[in-house]
Amino acid sequence: MSIFLPELKYGLDKLEPFLSQRALDFHYGKHFVNYINAANALIKDTEFDNMSLRAIVKNSDGALFNNAAQVLNHEIFFNSMAPQETAMPESVRDLVLGSFNSAEELKEQIFKSATAHFGSGWTWLVYDAATGKLEIRNTGNAANPITEGLVVLLGLDLWEHSYYLDYQNRRADYVKGFLEHIDWSYAERHYVRALTR
Ligand code: MN
Repeated sequence: MSIFLPELKYGLDKLEPFLSQRALDFHYGKHFVNYINAANALIKDTEFDNMSLRAIVKNSDGALFNNAAQVLNHEIFFNSMAPQETAMPESVRDLVLGSFNSAEELKEQIFKSATAHFGSGWTWLVYDAATGKLEIRNTGNAANPITEGLVVLLGLDLWEHSYYLDYQNRRADYVKGFLEHIDWSYAERHYVRALTR
């Protein structure tokens, strides 16, 4: 089984002016595609060939983990955004209010976490089924919290390639833009799936 490039659910120009078409062209069409090609080359004729992407991420290490996890990370990232922030579904709102004082506080915490992270990596909104609460996690490089048994609801790419064309060194402005383009219905889908598992 090959790993395929998931279709973008919005046009490459639809996140402007937050992210330019040129930047998305590189990020989706080049960086993302390169991780997919590299992961496919590494799984060819191995025991990973018949695994789902998530299973590969949970069971691999080294170069395969790095590339497969980056495929999953980017799939989550591009699906975490929408041309306009979507309304927060009730189930997600209840979950947010059970874990933070308000949706605004959640966003402030994501902002703080993402701007404080050193180097390449990711900021995640995760659901911990053991506590029934949301948490914000940062990971370095390709790491994804699903390997710790957490449910990922949203992901924000902090690699410089994700914002440098539009924002250069201004990561904070990029993070602010992300917080105005969250697709909460995507977060809900993963939350509901975790509840019914
Ligand atoms: Mn990226």
